[in-house]
Amino acid sequence: MTSNELGELELGYWRSIQTDLYTCSVRSTTPIAGGEICPECRMLPAPGRPNCAALRDALLARDFEQPVLFWRHHRLAVDTYCVQHSSYVESAKSLAAHLCGLCVAFEQNNDPTALKRL
Ligand SMILES: [Zn+2]
Repeated sequence: MTSNELGELELGYWRSIQTDLYTCSVRSTTPIAGGEICPECRMLPAPGRPNCAALRDALLARDFEQPVLFWRHHRLAVDTYCVQHSSYVESAKSLAAHLCGLCVAFEQNNDPTALKRL
């Protein structure tokens, strides 16, 4: 795979996230909390739009549905959500693991070898 092809895949990933922000309420089975601010990440969904948990579920489901396209960013999505929601961080060790995952994503271009060493 060339770097151009990889760049197109990553661009497609971010475009699809943007699309999910507007469309996943149609296929989400998570109850929609219209207009309620998430106390953890402070996201304020528009009335009738999915809340952060519904968006998380839709994005992670897509990672499993289309792993060739999206699995590369699965860990980044999980780590990002977890550090924003305290109920998903059970200990200091858990927080350190999520922060290290984010560090590898941003500073080491999401290198799978570096992620496995965590
Ligand atoms: Zn939230």
